[in-house]
Amino acid sequence: MDRWLVVGAGFAGAVLAERLASQLGALVTVIDRRPHIAGNAYDRRDAAGVLMHQYGPHIFHTNSEAVFEYLSQFTAWRFYEHRVLAVVDGQLTPIPINLTTVNQLYGLSLEPDELEAWFAARAEPVAEICTSEDVVVSRVGRELYEKFFRGYTRKQWGLDPSELDKSVTARVPVRTDRDDRYFQDRFQFMPRDGYTAMFEQMLNHPSIEVRLGVDYKEVAGEFEDAQVIFTGPIDEFFDFRFGALPYRSLRFEHVTLDQEQFQPVGTVNYPQTEAYTRITEYKHLTGQEHPKTTLTYEYPTAEGDPYYPIPRAENRALYKRYEALALETPRVHFVGRLASYQYYNMDQVVAQALATFRRIAEAR
Ligand code: FAD
Ligand code: UDP
Repeated sequence: MDRWLVVGAGFAGAVLAERLASQLGALVTVIDRRPHIAGNAYDRRDAAGVLMHQYGPHIFHTNSEAVFEYLSQFTAWRFYEHRVLAVVDGQLTPIPINLTTVNQLYGLSLEPDELEAWFAARAEPVAEICTSEDVVVSRVGRELYEKFFRGYTRKQWGLDPSELDKSVTARVPVRTDRDDRYFQDRFQFMPRDGYTAMFEQMLNHPSIEVRLGVDYKEVAGEFEDAQVIFTGPIDEFFDFRFGALPYRSLRFEHVTLDQEQFQPVGTVNYPQTEAYTRITEYKHLTGQEHPKTTLTYEYPTAEGDPYYPIPRAENRALYKRYEALALETPRVHFVGRLASYQYYNMDQVVAQALATFRRIAEAR
């Protein structure tokens, strides 16, 4: 029988373990060095009983019906559209920037067709849009860029937007209508009983064994004949041979308050003030009713767990050198946000893992 070692019990590892066991009849051992499954999507009930996310807010959204249907085998869903407000010039105003944002901040009563011209009058022409500054100033001008993006990005990444690839701030659109949802994907749902419960279902198969608190290095020798799915940092796998890939980290401060609600929406961003970037209140996401409420403050840091690959050309070039090594490494498949050094959302990781599985299955 096929023997597989899956390193990492996050989305990439859990999807592949599930597919290999259920579709190929493989014998799979999943390890994770953390004491729990679900990777960065791990959620749990805290001491007060409030369902919260240990590694910051995770909101599921996708345009892929295939990804949504795949995950639907392991969870029921709760409809949830994420909304975010930003504290700008002392006011709570919607982000993504939309008609309501501009009318509120500037005391105007523009209509959607007028806002396009309002932006155009302020937008700065940029010959070629390359950086995260270009994307925003070429769309809405420098003033809104500075209010909403410059400070937040410098805090989040420790870099100026002009030093980051355009893909980073391009994640947040600009709208001329009143749509204040953070995402516009076709499918926007939270797993009804949480992410960890969904992962338990995925990994609940007689030929999947899960071992927690175990590092790859400790067990690699036991699995010399096995095929390996590696979902940890690719530079670490190769002992940082070409130097460390830069990652941005966060320190999470979780707080439980003896009150039902703290803020009007799931997340409030702080682009101009505070050392933290945002505060998330989980009950908006989960729909849980509880007399107390739990919040997470996110403080960006240079040191700590590798949460965000940093999208910049030189980092991509360094990753490409590791990728070339990976392609020459037989038996090992590199999958997921850390192993691909890509700023992927959860649904993109699921799609990548399903595509990897199809390639493995076809190669039989
Ligand atoms: P991970 O979840 O990081 O799993 C990798 C696992 O491998 C980890 O558990 C790690 O402990 C383990 N591991 C690594 N190396 C080793 C080793 N050597 N030995 C053993 N185990 C090892 N995405 C969204 O779609 N929506 C969101 O709202 C969203 N919010 C986010 C908020 C934050 C603060 C962060 C950091 C990410 C967010 N994401 C969000 C992205 C999402 O977390 C990732 O896309 C997804 O979790 C990646 O899954 P993965 O399996 O690739 O990696
Ligand atoms: N961003 C910003 N101001 C905001 C929200 C986002 O400048 O109010 C920028 C910032 O650089 C951030 C990026 O846009 O890192 C992507 O935002 P997103 O909310 O997608 O970040 P994530 O949820 O992945 O941390």
